Amino acid sequence: MNEITRKLLVIGAGPGGYTCAIRAGQLGIDTIIVEADKPGGTCLNVGCIPSKALIHAAGEYETIAGAAEGRSALGITTAKPVLDFAKTIAWKDGIVRRLNGGVAGLLKKAGVKLIAGHARFRDGKSVEVETQSGAQTIRAQAVVIATGSEPVALPFLPFGGRVISSTEALALTEIPKKLLVIGGGYIGLELGTVFAKLGAAVTVVEAAPRILPQYDAELSAPVAKRLSVLGVTVLTGAKAKALVADGRALAVEGGSGEQMTLDADRILVTVGRRPVTSGFGLETLDLDMTGPFIRIDDRCRTSMHGIFAIGDITGEPMLAHRAMAQGEMVAEIVAGQRRAWDCVSIPAICFTDPEIVTVGMSPGEANGMGIDVKTDLFPFKANGRALTLEREDGFIRTVARADNHLLLGIQGVGAGIAELSAAFSLALEMGARLEDIAGTIHAHPTQSEGFHESALKSLGHAIHI
Ligand code: FAD
Repeated sequence: MNEITRKLLVIGAGPGGYTCAIRAGQLGIDTIIVEADKPGGTCLNVGCIPSKALIHAAGEYETIAGAAEGRSALGITTAKPVLDFAKTIAWKDGIVRRLNGGVAGLLKKAGVKLIAGHARFRDGKSVEVETQSGAQTIRAQAVVIATGSEPVALPFLPFGGRVISSTEALALTEIPKKLLVIGGGYIGLELGTVFAKLGAAVTVVEAAPRILPQYDAELSAPVAKRLSVLGVTVLTGAKAKALVADGRALAVEGGSGEQMTLDADRILVTVGRRPVTSGFGLETLDLDMTGPFIRIDDRCRTSMHGIFAIGDITGEPMLAHRAMAQGEMVAEIVAGQRRAWDCVSIPAICFTDPEIVTVGMSPGEANGMGIDVKTDLFPFKANGRALTLEREDGFIRTVARADNHLLLGIQGVGAGIAELSAAFSLALEMGARLEDIAGTIHAHPTQSEGFHESALKSLGHAIHI
């Protein structure tokens, strides 16, 4: 068996793993990364990127279809659009392929060796990889586990046939006539909205009293309103119970206990994701866990010396940018730098229609911690740019300490608002107060003026409302 020794071994080339390996390579660390599938992980291959590509395509189609049906307020009319969905999927796959090549190229440029194969721990310092050219043993002083997460199935709805996860939903070759989405979290709603815009009859079954239960009701309301306009049926407080009619329908118990049978061409289960902790000998290391996740400290160190863990395998929030930030930090720690996890907030974006951005604390979270806060919001219906873009649904909300006006959280909901997440995060990281936002000139006309106005409102002198 071939044996290679390196200073750093990274297992998994998702956003966490490949960022860690690239940064390590930049720092001159002799690094090897092992990936069982394509470089880029869940995010690039079956997550963030393909979903956002389809969200864009569906939005374009829906706008044109709206014009064809006489719904354009801009006076645009056109013939009914025709969708070549195979071409849409090929376009999406082309983006993914380009980025796969990009990640492989960046690893190479950083001097990192990428090995294709499934790594399996032999002990805390070495793994075995079954590669195309035979078995290989890799030894390293430091090991980073970045094996990510996978979709959770419901016990009575195993994946297969009509029952699909987000991975298969992103690779469908036909638009389902009837799509049932089990789970009204961000992944289910992003994909449900795609297929609704492309013509599917979509029903969302959510066990909580409202969709997007991880966000407050004020933020999720514009999304619920838009789903209704798109003709999506949302059943809240409802539970999927069993597959019936030879797998062609689903028994569902409604919020008031009523029994329903809903037929569907496809049943998309998006009830959560779980860390990938089995199938690669992790159990032999006996690492400390927190629930299903590997327990880490503020340097992403596990309970075993020389073994780090990053990304989805380490817990919530399971987001690509958290994994990347952890990966970068770990590479610098392995290089001997003094680093620790000290970010003020991890932004979260829900690419629904409209989009939701949250950074820091919501008013409810701040109140729950006994902090006296000033909370205000500025609605996009009073924002000129939003009106010119037909984006008047939504708002930007600021949450600041009542005593010293330090910003604790910024949230917003609105079309295209994802791009404002950087301004929101920066404000929190820089320790901005309401006066800092009020004293910053925000360009006109932009949706970002809503941020300025929300701060002004908390200070008692909003101009445009
Ligand atoms: P992963 O990306 O899961 O990568 C882990 C890699 O490890 C995989 O490539 C896997 O093949 C490899 N691997 C596992 N075991 C082994 C082994 N034994 N040997 C070798 N290789 C192995 N996040 C966002 O921030 N923004 C979004 O918009 C967003 N949208 C999403 C949409 C969908 C539909 C989904 C499913 C997820 C989305 N996410 C989004 C979440 C995001 O994809 C994850 O948080 C992110 O990919 C986690 O990165 P990671 O590096 O921890 O693991």
